[in-house]
Amino acid sequence: MPRGQIPRQPSKAGRHEKFGKAIRLGSKLKTSTPAKLAKAPKARPEKKSAGGVAPKGYNPISPERVKEILKRLSETYPDAKCALHHNNAWELLVATILSAQCTDVRVNMVTPGLFKKYPTAKHFAALKPEELEPDIRSTGFFRNKSKSIVGAAQAVVNEFGGEVPDDMERLLTVPGAARKTANVVLGSWFGKAEGVVVDTHVHRISRRLELTKNDDPKSIEQDLMKVIPREKWIDFAHQIIHHGRALCVARNPKCVDCPLENICHAADKTWSTVDIHKAAQP
Ligand code: SF4
Repeated sequence: MPRGQIPRQPSKAGRHEKFGKAIRLGSKLKTSTPAKLAKAPKARPEKKSAGGVAPKGYNPISPERVKEILKRLSETYPDAKCALHHNNAWELLVATILSAQCTDVRVNMVTPGLFKKYPTAKHFAALKPEELEPDIRSTGFFRNKSKSIVGAAQAVVNEFGGEVPDDMERLLTVPGAARKTANVVLGSWFGKAEGVVVDTHVHRISRRLELTKNDDPKSIEQDLMKVIPREKWIDFAHQIIHHGRALCVARNPKCVDCPLENICHAADKTWSTVDIHKAAQP
């Protein structure tokens, strides 16, 4: 909190209350009904603490807590979808490769012209990587991305008959398609939940929410696959990515507006009504 800035207080009828007041942050999340809340004493903000001890029995990955997180995310971001514009699996694969270290907005500015110039994987497969570089230069890392896209196009054309494969095993053989890219294509185009997309937002927020203690995408994905029901894998990633852009940003997350605030113990919260769990890391 910047010096001199007074922490905001939770309002009597503020957004946190609509989700119910967390009574206990232990293994079971219990919520008050609105009627109970009306009679309950006014919620008083607790001072943000830098450390803190986990409440006895606190289990951040208890099914009750995970269910509550998923419920609130679905209520807040009911229509969260992949932000990369695409019309088919190939376009999504290319857009996802381009999105590495680049904003989706920038990628969406580049892809319409790109796909007009090279409409199919076959057109890309006929290129030398250097020929593609000027078209994608503005997305950054354009030399590597050109090699990946042309390599991917050649694999799709030569190995898979021009169609992007729809299973993880074969997709991972396509140049430029590591697990994150494969999960994006499988989830957003084919509707197949074979894993959880772990991008920078999912990485950061899964740790803040203590859904994982790991710090590498592969292990984080494995942890998320264990605690989140499979039917939620695709939506969870979309919703967390939206949450990471809207509120749970990397620096100075907007905790005061966050629907997860009273069940979040992240060490770098900017505003808190609960004790900070010292194990929770950004
Ligand atoms: S309370 Fe803050 S740190 Fe926790 S999820 Fe919300 S925005 Fe992120």
